[in-house]
Amino acid sequence: MRAEFPDFRLGKVLATSFTGTLSERHGDAVERIPTPHRLVDWLAVSGLAVDSCTAAQLDLARELRESVHAAATAAALQEVLPASAVRVINDFSAQGRAAAVLTPEGERRWRLHSASGVEDALSVIAADAISIIAGERDGRLALCASPTCRAAFFDTSQSRTRRWCDMNTCGNRQKKARFNAARNT
Ligand SMILES: [Zn+2]
Repeated sequence: MRAEFPDFRLGKVLATSFTGTLSERHGDAVERIPTPHRLVDWLAVSGLAVDSCTAAQLDLARELRESVHAAATAAALQEVLPASAVRVINDFSAQGRAAAVLTPEGERRWRLHSASGVEDALSVIAADAISIIAGERDGRLALCASPTCRAAFFDTSQSRTRRWCDMNTCGNRQKKARFNAARNT
C-alpha cells in the first residue's frame, strides 16, 4: 500500500510554491516533500520532470527551499537579505544547465540535462526566486497573516492587499477561528 503524503499547494509562482512545500513553519510544520519520491512528484507537477532523486538531492532541495524562504521573508519585510541565503540561492542558480525552450504552441518549457536533472530543476527555482526577490516581476512579496504560517507569497492582486498565502486554507482557517471565537463569547 502506498503511504499517504500531504497534498501539494501549488501557486502560480514557482519559487513560492516551492517554499510552500513546508507549511505551518511557526505551528505544527507540515513537510510536503518528505521523501525523494515526493520531490520528484512535486517537480513533475511544476513542469520540471526529473527521472530520479536521491536522499542527498532532497537535502539540497530543502537547503535551497529554506534559503529562498529566508531571503523572500527579508524582502517582504524590506530587511537586509541574509548573506548566507543569498549565497545558497546564487550557488544553486549557477550550477544548473536548464534551457528554456519554446513549444510550437508558443509556451515556455524547461529542458533539463538528464544527468543532472534535480540540480537543473533547482537552478530554475533559484532563478525564479531571484527574479521575484529582485522585484523584476509585477507583484509584491508579502507574508501570510496567519501567525502559524507566515509563508512568503507573491501578491499579484490589483490592490496588492492579499493577506493570506492561500485563500482556501489559511484564510478560511482564520475565518473559522474568528467565527468560533464570536460564538463562544
Ligand atoms: Zn498561510
